[in-house]
Amino acid sequence: MSQITDFNTINVPNWCPGCANFGVWNSLKQSFVELNLEPHQIVITYDIGCSGNGADKTNTYAFKSLHGRTIPIAVGVKLANPNLTVIATGGDGGIMEEGVNHLMWAARSNYDITVLMHNNRRFGLTTGQPTVTTNKGEPGSTSPLGIPEDPIVPVHVALISKATFVARGYAGDPKQLTKLIKSAIKHKGFSFLEILQPCVTFNKINTFDWYKERVYKLEDKKGYDASDWDKAFDISKSTDEKIATGIIYEDKKSVPYSQRLSYRKDKKTTLVDEVKQYSIKEFVKEFE
Ligand code: SF4
Repeated sequence: MSQITDFNTINVPNWCPGCANFGVWNSLKQSFVELNLEPHQIVITYDIGCSGNGADKTNTYAFKSLHGRTIPIAVGVKLANPNLTVIATGGDGGIMEEGVNHLMWAARSNYDITVLMHNNRRFGLTTGQPTVTTNKGEPGSTSPLGIPEDPIVPVHVALISKATFVARGYAGDPKQLTKLIKSAIKHKGFSFLEILQPCVTFNKINTFDWYKERVYKLEDKKGYDASDWDKAFDISKSTDEKIATGIIYEDKKSVPYSQRLSYRKDKKTTLVDEVKQYSIKEFVKEFE
């Protein structure tokens, strides 16, 4: 059985002291331990940004992508080798802004990957510019008077994109977050988990104290049924006054993309097993 230290490398994270990424990192490793996963069974793809800084600090297979491209890389890995646990990480900038098209298409296709979106409502790595999740009027490093647009709600986008698992966790509640990461990984199909992650350096508005006053757990809401898409849609529209955490929606009958491919129905091998070497000698000769 793996230990939490098995998922460390010789590198130590250099996030700012007090950054919520430390909590997310610990919950992620704890969920691997509780799921009995070993480092060689996991692939994590990373985006550019503070969350991407974990790439060489977590002992699993890893791929550091271009900005906004963490999801398509994860999809490619999973299609090639479905035996792996594949997780795409990124921030609100990478996943909801540059890469939102990838999120929508991957959700619709129900690829069997887990997306962990760290939402600090700022571009932290580049000193706090606003993202699509920043509230209208909130000042950022390049917009001292605030931005004029309304924010996008990530779980709302995931739901309307047909994601079969949509959840929201909070970095200040590691116990719940670990549970949610485990549920997201276990889900058969596309799982989207937004993680509210305070940026202690560049976001002085959405702080730990700010979230503490607003978050509540759906599991404490009497009669909440996460299989009801319409109810989930209503919850996903929630404002900053009350922020729901927990599993917002799950289709327990979800059939992942790879199992929908009739022509691969009887295959006992994966695409990785089927890779062969082909000689292109004859083909090249035609051009000599
Ligand atoms: Fe964390 Fe913000 Fe520092 Fe990035 S800039 S490491 S998100 S506190």
